[in-house]
Amino acid sequence: MANNLPLLKGETIELTIESLNHAGEGVGRFHGFTVFVPGALPLEKVTAKVISVQKNYARALLQSISATSPQRIMPVCEQYEPCGGCQLQHLDYAAQLQLKQKTVEDALQRIAGLSVPVLPTLGIEHPWRYRNKAQVPVGQQKNKLVAGFYEQRSHNIVDLKCCHIQHPANDTVVHAVRNILQALGITAYKENEHRGLVRHILARTSFATGETLVVIVTNGANLPKKEQICHALREAIPNLCGIVQNVNTKRGNTILGKEDITLWGRPWLCERLGDLEFHLSARSFFQVNPSQTVRLYGKALEYAALSGKETVFDLYCGIGTISLFLARNAAKVIGVESLAAAVDDARKNASINEITNTTFHVGAAEKIVPLLYKEGYRADVVVVDPPRKGCDQALLETISKMSPQRIVYLSCNPATLARDIRFLAENGFNPVEAQPVDMFPQTSHVETVVLITRVGK
Ligand code: SAH
Repeated sequence: MANNLPLLKGETIELTIESLNHAGEGVGRFHGFTVFVPGALPLEKVTAKVISVQKNYARALLQSISATSPQRIMPVCEQYEPCGGCQLQHLDYAAQLQLKQKTVEDALQRIAGLSVPVLPTLGIEHPWRYRNKAQVPVGQQKNKLVAGFYEQRSHNIVDLKCCHIQHPANDTVVHAVRNILQALGITAYKENEHRGLVRHILARTSFATGETLVVIVTNGANLPKKEQICHALREAIPNLCGIVQNVNTKRGNTILGKEDITLWGRPWLCERLGDLEFHLSARSFFQVNPSQTVRLYGKALEYAALSGKETVFDLYCGIGTISLFLARNAAKVIGVESLAAAVDDARKNASINEITNTTFHVGAAEKIVPLLYKEGYRADVVVVDPPRKGCDQALLETISKMSPQRIVYLSCNPATLARDIRFLAENGFNPVEAQPVDMFPQTSHVETVVLITRVGK
């Protein structure tokens, strides 16, 4: 078999890059065989060393560029190459936005077989320092604690110096926690051996209030020298509002465990989106880019086209952010969310904002919505905002039976979005328009909101 392949592992090849894949990697062909070259851009002629060969494609390391793309720019971050956090810093911002539009178009075409109009990506004015949350693993290299993002396709930690897409306070937290733990002799968790204590540092900073919440994830409930840790963190981090210990003793990649212990201050952060205020607890999901979130939700609201009389379902509702935006223009909103702590937040947030026409249910959407349907509940508009794996088929089946006039689908993964839209298109719905929103500049991640309407009346 291998003999028929036009290239071999270890070989150095020359090729011209034709496009970028969804991960932002250059894609070229070598004697017709597909080769992925991370870091290379369309139209560039490159030399690359083949590092792996699969049945249908190979991967190669960029060595040199003989013809450079006009869209190539100097990456801002000095750790851009080793760090796996960003993938597109070498591509100018306008081209990043075009790439994201094309990624969504391609997914809908290839996976759903549909030519849905995809609008130009809504970009951000200043594509840096936009993230409100840093979540980094802690490890040990030689005798030093390190904390930072993983290298691309590995679990080697790149010790963070300065992350240009983070709120600056989140950098301060990562450095402070790392240095304080090191000084106090607290151990880092070793994945392979499932030993050692501190697994992750999570920092969340509110752009509205400037306050910061710190979460230290530990492999076990016993954290030595708690008082000293809290004291030192309070000295090091201005506007600290709380320190939470999250206990995660399970093996694997899931970052947060189920137990939270408040070590100091309050275990929640106050953030604002538009004129609404939200309190979010340590484990609750909250969009990472608040200014773009306002635009994303604005588009979702436009697609929902509410008159004030509708019953709306907000599925995968998190702390109720979209629910509260919708509630002011709807008769009532029913939110469903699997994480109990987020539903507690959602109920509190409704009350803080004096919104009285929302109800929230804890549980998997694919379990709760069929039950609600059986009890006779119907929705005029359904909003879904699932995690990367998309919606469960049982949920899509119930939504189809419920036959709402409109579905507004928010997605962070074009592949599962396209799969789910295909199902809906085969079951009485028509995808009308997709709007990518750039929530994650400098990375290859894309957020999309899609309007899907019922076919016929
Ligand atoms: N709409 C919210 C949250 C979106 S993130 C916002 O914009 O902030 C996706 C949410 O789905 C997370 O809060 C996660 O806890 C929740 N979730 C994951 N699987 C779920 C399921 N099967 N049913 C309901 N909620 C789920």
